[in-house]
Amino acid sequence: MCDQRRNIDGKTFAMHPETQTPAIFIFDNFDGGLGLTDALFIAFDDIFEKAAYIVNHCNCKEGCPGCIYLPRRKEENMSINKEVKKEFMNFMLKPSVH
Ligand SMILES: [Zn+2]
Repeated sequence: MCDQRRNIDGKTFAMHPETQTPAIFIFDNFDGGLGLTDALFIAFDDIFEKAAYIVNHCNCKEGCPGCIYLPRRKEENMSINKEVKKEFMNFMLKPSVH
């Protein structure tokens, strides 16, 4: 549902200039929101742990559509580094980060 309608989107920062930490921003693309981010926030830890598992255990070397590549923003895939993404996700899994 989300990929087809683009109702939800996000942006990650290896180092956000304001927080000076890695950061993820996830937002509803629909004016006024559909409540998707509210549901995501509730299940965030579980979803993020599963995503980190996929990235950490994918057999590809540099990234692929199965782990880190973005299906809608193919031009951005060239700048994605799998090792940096793994470090980011493992950092975000630390309990003190949330
Ligand atoms: Zn992969």
